[in-house]
Amino acid sequence: MIRQFLRKVFNRKTAASASIAKLSIIPHKRHGIRRNQINPCALKITANLQQAGFSAYIVGGAARDLLLGLTPKDFDVATNATPEQVHQIFRRSRIIGRRFRLVHVMCGAETVEVSTFRGHSPADDDNHASIKLTDQHGRLLRDNVFGSQEEDAVRRDFTINALFYDPAKEEILDYLNGYEDIKAKKLRIIGDPAQRYREDPIRLLRAVRLASKLDMQIEAETAKPIGDLAPLLQNVPPSRLFDEMLKLLLSGHALSCVVDLRTRGLHHGLLPMLDVILEQPLGERFITIALRNTDERIRQNKPVSPGFLFAILLWHEVLSSWNALQTSGEKPLPALFKAMDEILSIQHKKLAIPRRFDAVIQEIWSMQPRFQARTGRKPFRLIAHPRFRAAYDFMLLRCESGELDEELGEWWKTFLSADNEKREKMLLKETSPKKGKRRRSRKKPSPGLALEPENSSTDENR
Ligand code: ATP
Ligand code: MG
Repeated sequence: MIRQFLRKVFNRKTAASASIAKLSIIPHKRHGIRRNQINPCALKITANLQQAGFSAYIVGGAARDLLLGLTPKDFDVATNATPEQVHQIFRRSRIIGRRFRLVHVMCGAETVEVSTFRGHSPADDDNHASIKLTDQHGRLLRDNVFGSQEEDAVRRDFTINALFYDPAKEEILDYLNGYEDIKAKKLRIIGDPAQRYREDPIRLLRAVRLASKLDMQIEAETAKPIGDLAPLLQNVPPSRLFDEMLKLLLSGHALSCVVDLRTRGLHHGLLPMLDVILEQPLGERFITIALRNTDERIRQNKPVSPGFLFAILLWHEVLSSWNALQTSGEKPLPALFKAMDEILSIQHKKLAIPRRFDAVIQEIWSMQPRFQARTGRKPFRLIAHPRFRAAYDFMLLRCESGELDEELGEWWKTFLSADNEKREKMLLKETSPKKGKRRRSRKKPSPGLALEPENSSTDENR
């Protein structure tokens, strides 16, 4: 009764959207996905649910990626069983989530997310307005609004993300022509584009990320309102915005995503200073080289820390503020710290970078001047710093972009791969008045500072 009432009040659009949905069933001989491409854990879960009399499918990114010949990141399952029913079937499972409850089913070390088909209601959209509505209307509206499979397809974001793969029958159920869109490499939003972006502005960023990651064109009607609706991102809770931004930067396609964000005017609320940076040739070169390098690392499964990425994106702003402060008479180090604080606080007002990343960003930046000091014990002390590797990689990017002399990077590369004897010989002569004093204090590095050659150092702190 209550569900019917809520549908009537809030669900006018569902009926309209659902009526455009027309089911087509794609047999194995057309789609070609083999059962052995499916994660065994997800396979077992769909089989058990089906044995218990429910319907169960592999959904979302997994079905899509398999059709595109990509390796899915995760395998999600959708079913008509309620979370409680799912939980009863799987001993190792737990119900999670408050606004929309789903079940985490564990098998071995893996966890598969099982969600019940959802209907469309403002209560389950993650936008600001609906959160308020949810609060006003109390718990009931926050409860799950379950729906039919068709409704579940319609409330998803893009047609290519709304396919259901049935591993038992080896069929794909497609209500929204997603299969054809995949084949045509078209990213098409489901329903009225402006309305769907308003419901959840994160979809603006998902459009950019998925198009880059999947090498697809954003279909014309889907693309049209993006620029105008960009300000809606201001209403998205900061933590969600940050998570999506991170997904984008760690997608392995950060460079094309950032370029596309800027082209579509979506960067204003995320990286307010991006325009200024990219308009300077040196800044543009730095970001391009650094993001290309990051994308490559991700493709090689090497770690990339979010702190490192934000240090990159903001560096040229810090640099210009640092230069300005020095020109106006400030000493180099205090000027650098002032510039760092200034830029981080401007950035925090827009895309809130969680404080836990600040320390890394600041360390990477504040270690930069120390690479210039190549006398006495300084290089040895620098190498012993726990964040050395990240700061060193950062310095090399600065050299490669033309901001610093290549010679500096080469010196450090040689220094790192040399043995201690060669390192001692490489140290530059002191030119400061304290020369004598420094010379006297020069001694062999202590075992604690003994350095590993470059290729044996880990990438952990990147
Ligand atoms: P990825 O490869 O990055 O995991 P994905 O499409 O699987 O891409 P998820 O965030 O894992 O992304 O979401 C799983 C599915 O949930 C999507 O394929 C889509 O069907 C649906 N979905 C995710 N976010 C939204 C959203 N903001 N609005 C509507 N549906 C969404
Ligand atoms: Mg996914």
